[in-house]
Amino acid sequence: MKGKVYLVGAGPGDPELLTLKALRVLRTAAAVLPDDLVSPEILRLIPATAQVYNVGKRCGQKKIRQVEINFLMVTLAQSGLRVVRLKGGDPLIFGRAREEMEALRQADIPYEIVPGVTSALGAAAAAQIPLTDRRASSALVFLTAHQADGSEAVNWSKLAGSGATLVIYMPGQDYAVIASKLKAAGLPAETPCAIISRATTQSQRTNRTTIAELLRAPQLPAPALLVVGEVVRFSDPALVAQELTLRDVSAASPAAFAAALLADSPAQVANFGTNEEPSA
Ligand code: SAH
Repeated sequence: MKGKVYLVGAGPGDPELLTLKALRVLRTAAAVLPDDLVSPEILRLIPATAQVYNVGKRCGQKKIRQVEINFLMVTLAQSGLRVVRLKGGDPLIFGRAREEMEALRQADIPYEIVPGVTSALGAAAAAQIPLTDRRASSALVFLTAHQADGSEAVNWSKLAGSGATLVIYMPGQDYAVIASKLKAAGLPAETPCAIISRATTQSQRTNRTTIAELLRAPQLPAPALLVVGEVVRFSDPALVAQELTLRDVSAASPAAFAAALLADSPAQVANFGTNEEPSA
């Protein structure tokens, strides 16, 4: 009997940003392959009975190649297991989804995609940036500054001319490089931008600056995103230093947590928080 593979988005970090579907699929998984962007709070929701293969490519001793991840996923499903490939954010955004879908199709394994909150949305919410605004920006572009083969796939001038809000994934450590690309593309040096690091986690930090000042901005820890555009002006500068308190949803049984989320009474939901007083 063939199993099934779920490509599941774990969201940007805060476990409360998991979808109910992601939570259900995760709680019934027989094997889980998390990448290294998945937060520890979410990893704690993996059932104790599940086999866990940490296929994160950054932290491990040995770099796991994409073909090895594909092979593992296919083999586990062929042995009849319900497999969850758990990815940070949304699985279809900078998540190697094409490679994994192709491998699954080739092996004739049924699969399903469970979307997640991509980190751009988590970061914008964290920094209170309206990504679109009817006066300032009516287009939004998700791009990456880094291509796997080092080539330049982004036409920076076209993007700059479009007036779109830019959300740059994987901006790297050298903001000076991005700043010079943005300037060379024709964006004014005073264009506001924000760096949002570890959005929706307890160590979230944000820094608001401009393209001109970007190279002097402090290096915030990875993973981080850069949002560029006039809309950044509308964020609240006081937020920069604000701390975030996350609910530890693993403290309650996930079934009870999900039931509480669906119940009418907000007080019931608050009962599952460990860091917050129940609201009066
Ligand atoms: N599929 C993921 C993106 C994977 S690419 C998604 O939809 O979010 C990895 C990049 O995502 C990181 O380099 C960083 O730019 C961004 N990222 C992921 N999680 C993040 C977080 N919690 N805060 C800020 N950026 C994050």
